[in-house]
Amino acid sequence: MAIVTSEGIVLKTHALGETSRIAVVYTRDHGLVKMVAKGARKTPSRFGYALEPLTRGRYVYYFKPDRDLHLLSQADTLTATGSRIADLERLAHAEAALELIDRLVWGEEPHAELFDLLAAVLEAVTAAPAASLPALTIAFQLQVASLLGYRPRLDACAECGGPLSQRRLFSPARGGLLCDRCVGGEPGTVALSADALAGLSLLLTRPVGEAGEYFEVRRAGEILRVVEAFLKYHFQRFKGLRSLDLLRALPPERTPKSEETPCAT
Ligand SMILES: [Zn+2]
Repeated sequence: MAIVTSEGIVLKTHALGETSRIAVVYTRDHGLVKMVAKGARKTPSRFGYALEPLTRGRYVYYFKPDRDLHLLSQADTLTATGSRIADLERLAHAEAALELIDRLVWGEEPHAELFDLLAAVLEAVTAAPAASLPALTIAFQLQVASLLGYRPRLDACAECGGPLSQRRLFSPARGGLLCDRCVGGEPGTVALSADALAGLSLLLTRPVGEAGEYFEVRRAGEILRVVEAFLKYHFQRFKGLRSLDLLRALPPERTPKSEETPCAT
């Protein structure tokens, strides 16, 4: 047993017994770690915001390899992201990022780039214009899939490497665009609009934070549907993001600019 320190982002928490709390933390150095915070429910002030979902903090814990739960010794808040988010729409997009990591990642395999991507998207979601939130979420989904080894192929046929069809045919199952020859008999293939393909390409390649700065995605709804179909095909644990269902359920007057978000349609 070793005592270790790592930066982490809290994905979710739940109660343990009368007085303790379990926090599921995506750490930079040990991947997904479940930590027991003893007494956290009895004296919540001891940890402040450090055990709140969305918080980025520094965690000191007793790490036992091959154990499911690790004892938290100390937790310090670096960024209390949740306390900086006031509106439901923004919160739903922030929670969607946590949910995606929780769904697609498991085990104590560290992935520093993925951690940094999560930290970057949460920063961006707190500050971006509301109209850019869907673009941020889609960029994050695409880039998480890429870091985990599933980068959609957009430069040549995903099946044979040949020149692409002029019809912009995207196959979630083949993981990218196809040529006219390979599309025959490929079920579930979607013909993308030119705007959707341009958006997809931009969101895949530019830094995730920039998706919120300069880019209001046209056809965000179309892109989101294709990306979610792609993720569902390649990651069995992915069933769509429940966090975004909350947005769909809100009455329109509570989601300003709902006509621009794919989630509200
Ligand atoms: Zn082909």
